[in-house]
Amino acid sequence: MNAPRGKLVVISGPSGAGKTSVCRALKQHPQVEFSVSATTRAMRAGERDGIDYHFLPRDDFQRRLAENQFLEWATYNGNMYGTPRWPMDQALARGQTFLVEIEVKGTRQLRERGIEGLYVFIAPPSIDELRRRLQKRGSNDATEIEQRVRIAEDEIAASRELVAGAPLYDVILENRDLDATIRAVEAMLWP
Ligand code: 5GP
Repeated sequence: MNAPRGKLVVISGPSGAGKTSVCRALKQHPQVEFSVSATTRAMRAGERDGIDYHFLPRDDFQRRLAENQFLEWATYNGNMYGTPRWPMDQALARGQTFLVEIEVKGTRQLRERGIEGLYVFIAPPSIDELRRRLQKRGSNDATEIEQRVRIAEDEIAASRELVAGAPLYDVILENRDLDATIRAVEAMLWP
């Protein structure tokens, strides 16, 4: 007997809103498979090639793009990011929940292609709170923090846009309390 088709879950949100923590919690579920994106950005300390991202030189990324290997792709902060096409098809066919963590422009491409799934935007409670969280992380200087805050403001505005008359995201969750946010996503996925 064939497994019932799995479900796509798209998670987006600005840097510092908590989406990576939400994804980390969802990955603990055995039925969840996480999409490993390709990117041209430099590897950060602690990241592993093939696990956190497929780190590619720009010409390699562009060749794959020309070969239509990505389901969606976007430029973010000067670097290219893309979701490889095949893992999703295979995971959904196996009945897995396929988790994709991408930014807003890529999400729009998935919606425009009519790809079904649960689309979730994790928002900070406020811009001031986001700035505080980024400062607390201590991994960016003041200029970078303000740059991220500006990108976040654009992303929050874009998250409320419509695609063909329908909301881009099924739900926009304000992450005040991480555990509560994780429980809210889990409840939507496995009611
Ligand atoms: P970072 O460089 O901080 O890991 O990611 C920067 C942004 O790129 C985040 O918003 C992240 O969700 C997004 N991103 C990561 N992979 C992809 C991808 O494959 N496609 C798109 N559109 N965005 C991605």
